[in-house]
Formats: sequence, structure tokens, C-alpha cells
Amino acid sequence: MKMLTFKATSHATRKARLGNAIDSAAMESLLDPPGPLDVTTIAADWEAPLAGLLNIKHPKAVAAGIKDRKEAIKIYAHVVRHPTHGFFLVDTGVSRRLLEDPARAGVGMMLRMFGGIEKMSPQQSTAEIIEAEPTPLRGVFLTHLHLDHVSGLPDIPKDIPIYTGADEAEASLFLNLFAQGTNNHLLAGRPPLEELQFAKEAGGSLEAVNDVFGDGSFFAILTPGHTTGHVSYLARTVTGAVLMTGDVSHTRWGWDHGVEPGTYLQERGPSVNSLLQLKALAHRHPAMAVKLGHQE
Ligand SMILES: [Zn+2]
Repeated sequence: MKMLTFKATSHATRKARLGNAIDSAAMESLLDPPGPLDVTTIAADWEAPLAGLLNIKHPKAVAAGIKDRKEAIKIYAHVVRHPTHGFFLVDTGVSRRLLEDPARAGVGMMLRMFGGIEKMSPQQSTAEIIEAEPTPLRGVFLTHLHLDHVSGLPDIPKDIPIYTGADEAEASLFLNLFAQGTNNHLLAGRPPLEELQFAKEAGGSLEAVNDVFGDGSFFAILTPGHTTGHVSYLARTVTGAVLMTGDVSHTRWGWDHGVEPGTYLQERGPSVNSLLQLKALAHRHPAMAVKLGHQE
């Protein structure tokens, strides 16, 4: 029987007009000296079942006696400042407009009922994050198209370019039955999604890398598994490299122990592979700061 599947969004896409696919070794040769960027992370409080966030059936989790529970987590927006290109966001934080009237913001009924939106609690909304910057927002880099990563979109001006990994929008999944309408609504009236391009490496230490500004300061790393086109980002800041894993690992425990997400993933094999690749990268560059998907 053929499973009914739905794209993450039917919003238009195009090849990003930014970024070059490069070799992961070229990126790694640049990682240890500081770079020109600045990254600040803003968190909103949330909670979710641990069995979604972490594979509690993994032998390491079983051995540690970990059971399903409500887990306190965060929804992040990372403010990335480039000295000449300006200010960008990695993922979008939380818009108060989405919380106050989710139906009007375009959140479909199933996500309103089961998405846990009522538990989202921002200290600083996405609108406030944007207003606090001295320069205008130039673009949004999404790790992937899930509600807790696009939940700030109602506060993002409609003309701002939105970047995703190639194949993220087109990926077809039964789960997207619930996400597609919401993503379409949040993206309505916006330009096509800008898809960052990758050249998959045969035998490379990472799946594929893109040098986003072409100056070796900010990289997208293809990390499929949680979603098909999932992307992690790496910024070379004045204080050193900062890796933003996205949902390669939602939790601190999962990252520290090399245990992948639980039920919140599309394909387990690639998800495990992406986690182990990023952990090995962090091991090769121990000074690099690592910011996880939903916990510090
Ligand atoms: Zn997430």
C-alpha cells in the first residue's frame, strides 16, 4: 500500500542566490582562528514529551533509566551579525501574534490542538528581537520547516529572503499532512524559498557544506535525518566557531551521549549519522561552542 505523503510546503522554491557548495575540508581548515561574526541566542520556554526529543529506547537511555516525561526545552532564535552583510536570524524564535491568535496566524487545527503552542513562552518576541537591532534584518536561515522553528515568521517582514536546505520544502512525508497548511500560510505572500545548494561528498567527514557568504565566515552543513533537507549552521565569530546543530540533537543528554531524537524524526539512520558527524566535528575542534536544537 502506498502511504499518502505531503510536501512540507507547496510554497515556491528556487536555488539560493547566495552561497557556494564547498569541500568540508576547506571549511575545517578555517575553523580554529576567530572570524568576523557575532552570534547572540534568544530563547523562549517550551516543553515537550521526552520520547519525542530523545530515543528513550536506545540502549544507553535504557541503561540510564530514562523514562518518558514532560521535558523543559527552549525555542531559539540565533542573531547572526556580519560586519558588511548585516543582521540575519538562524531559525525564528516565537511571535506573540502566533500565540495570541494561532488560527489567524495560520496554524492549522491539528497543530493548534496537539502542537503545544499554548506552552510556548517567549521572553522576547521575534518582533522585539528585530527591533532591538540597529540595522535591518537581511535574511532568515531555517534549519528546517517545523512549527517550533518557523514560529517567529508572523513577525518577519514579507520581503525578507528565507533560506532552507535543498529538498526541505519538497520532502514528502505523512507527518506533513499537519505541517503543510501551516507552513503555506506562514510563507504566503513571501518570495520563493531560497534553497542552499550542496554537493554531496563521497567519503567526506561531513555530508556536504555551503560557504554562505563566500568569505569563509558562515557555513551551512547538510544534516539530513530529522527532516530531508535539515541544515545546521556554523558561524566563525570573534570569540571562535559556533555550531548551531538545529534538531540533529534536541537535548543536551542526547548530544553528550550520542543518542538521536526519539519519535520526532523522519529517518533514523541518517539522523544518527548526522549526529555522529557533528559530534566528530566538535571533537576535532574542541574550542567550538555548540548550540543544540532545544536545550543548552
Ligand atoms: Zn525543533
